[in-house]
Amino acid sequence: MSQGTDISMHLNSTLDAIRRAEQQHSRPAHSVTLVAVSKQQPVEKIHAAYAAGQRDFSENYVQEALQKIKLIQQPDIIWHFIGAIQSNKTRLIAENFQWVHSVSRYKTAERLSEQRPASMVDLNVCIEVNIDSEVSKSGINVNEAKELALHIAKLPRIKLRGLMAIPAARDNYDDQVGLFKKVAALQQELNDSGLQLDTLSMGMSQDYLAAIAAGSTLVRIGTALFGTRNYE
Ligand SMILES: *Cc1c(COP(=O)(O)O)cnc(C)c1O
Repeated sequence: MSQGTDISMHLNSTLDAIRRAEQQHSRPAHSVTLVAVSKQQPVEKIHAAYAAGQRDFSENYVQEALQKIKLIQQPDIIWHFIGAIQSNKTRLIAENFQWVHSVSRYKTAERLSEQRPASMVDLNVCIEVNIDSEVSKSGINVNEAKELALHIAKLPRIKLRGLMAIPAARDNYDDQVGLFKKVAALQQELNDSGLQLDTLSMGMSQDYLAAIAAGSTLVRIGTALFGTRNYE
């Protein structure tokens, strides 16, 4: 079977599973967006997913992403940046992406705000929360998230949309749901303090059904769509 057929099949079965989970948890149909994680995957696979109807793609490494964006040239693709953000890369991110999910410092948000071209629509931003502080080092601590969010929400040219989290892999579905629910509760707390956040970016190949059960609005899926990544 061709690579394109494989990707189209994986895409459809993943979308089916997402739609079933929406129904099962009484979520509105299409309230969960599938973002294909194309990091360390060849351009051909992105073309195949695009041909099968996928439009949201995400990348973790700026240089790799820029090469792909240039090669692919599809104006209706929505590019999401989900990787660690180095200060010297914020301009390229601000100029080439529609979404950034991995903001965890005010300084980064400020740079993105200053560097977002005025000619473009506002850059959508999520704050990455360290919901799993024993095992992870990325993201802001839960108890510091509110202050950061209230500050970031005031910046021009970026729009704070919500929270992103990457809990450590767990085999147990209920454990997965429990952790994602903490992120959802934090989002609720922020909205109760006057913010209007509509995005919960959580769930990957191994735990996206649990994330949807807990209220995720955007799942970031790589391996289940494209197969194992090429780490060369
Ligand atoms: C790589 C990556 C993913 C996708 O992980 P899979 O397990 O391949 O689905 C999602 N989110 C982030 C932030 C990633 O770095």
